Amino acid sequence: MTDLTRLQQADKAHFIHPFTDSKSLGEKGTRVIERAEGVYIWDVQGKKLLDGMAGLWCVNVGYGRQSIVDAVSKQMQQLPYYNSFFQCTHPPAIELAKTIAELAPKHMNTVFFTGSGSESNDTNLRMVRRYWDLKGQPNKKTIISRHNAYHGSTVAGASLGGMSGMHEQGDLPIPKIVHIAQPYWYQEGGDLTPEAFGLQAAQALETEILALGEDNVAAFIAEPFQGAGGVIIPPSTYWPEIKRILAKYDILLILDEVISGFGRTGHWFAAEYFDLQPDLISIAKGMTSGYVPMGGVIIADRVADVIKQQCGEFTHGYTYSGHPVAAAAALENINIIKQEKLVEKVGAEIAPYFQQALQQLAEHPLVGEVRGLGLVGAIELVQNKAKRQRYPSNIGVGTWCRDACIAHGLVMRSVGDTMIISPPLVITKAQIDELIEKALLALNDTYTQCLA
Ligand code: PLP
Repeated sequence: MTDLTRLQQADKAHFIHPFTDSKSLGEKGTRVIERAEGVYIWDVQGKKLLDGMAGLWCVNVGYGRQSIVDAVSKQMQQLPYYNSFFQCTHPPAIELAKTIAELAPKHMNTVFFTGSGSESNDTNLRMVRRYWDLKGQPNKKTIISRHNAYHGSTVAGASLGGMSGMHEQGDLPIPKIVHIAQPYWYQEGGDLTPEAFGLQAAQALETEILALGEDNVAAFIAEPFQGAGGVIIPPSTYWPEIKRILAKYDILLILDEVISGFGRTGHWFAAEYFDLQPDLISIAKGMTSGYVPMGGVIIADRVADVIKQQCGEFTHGYTYSGHPVAAAAALENINIIKQEKLVEKVGAEIAPYFQQALQQLAEHPLVGEVRGLGLVGAIELVQNKAKRQRYPSNIGVGTWCRDACIAHGLVMRSVGDTMIISPPLVITKAQIDELIEKALLALNDTYTQCLA
């Protein structure tokens, strides 16, 4: 038996994979990734793939960073674990909180640590409700989110998210979470211009607030651009109108920057890119570049002051909140981003090159729209460009394209028939050219399959 067959059989027997149809693995088997370096990964059969997804949008500094390995190893030897409960803490967590506060928007100077993006959003839910209790407005409990948003897989995270497939499994959402329209112009904009549609999508928030009563609404949660939903970038009119509405009704903004944080937009946080002043920011992924699990919530002074001064004991926390080894990984990861000026480089050089290169795919007969910002991109696969019309969903054109990418040595993710790209921030211009070349070959193969 080859090693791959043995691994696949053991995998099939003992492992239920996240977001995977286990039955379909019976036919194909899993792809087993064994090692990685820079922007490349290798499977157990030695096939080399350009990782156009940075793992799951997280390996910002690329694979194989020895200095993170060293930082983690040193911390493990010195203090592998201690908690941050009950008036205890340790140097790495303190240093990390201070470092993140220095990078965050000026009005945000406090961090609560978690183990993941999902836990960060659970923390947000409890923190905003507690905030309004302490402000003497105990009815302000409902959180407004958006259809097709992704905010994680815990019960609160999946409830805050707007994915119907997730709500169906587990009787979600939990009470006092409601969802409004997403600003997805390409699929839902109809005859409206992107600007008019963006305004309309934002005004759905005001309609919902008025329906619920402003005294019952605690917060609005949103990703700056929807990642897992299909890299949905709001039209330029969207965020300014949302800001106006939130200010008018005194409703908190929770900005989920689990994907967009730590450089992906060419800024440390997308709040800067979209000129937003959130009350809470969810972070994870790029915080450690995925080397070790870690997440957190960055908290505006307005909220932090109330929680610190008036809450008494905040009855919330995780065994691994501020884990010393994860904090050491995060500190070195941030150090690399600073030393190599990755945020500045992405903003000034790599992202503009990437966005321009992506446009080469726009003319392809299978491509309806190419969009992106910073170092994320999306390619909409369609049957009819003029009508922005997709192939029937049972065909699975996105899956064909994803598999064709793999065949040509590229990892791209498919969200329905939208192809997603989010490479490590360290990708070079030559590697971007390689990515586009491979994507084009995959699009050609997929188109041939569509015509057959
Ligand atoms: N929020 C957003 C925007 C995400 O994209 C994700 C994960 O993809 C999460 C939250 C959940 O993070 P985690 O998987 O670390 O729990």
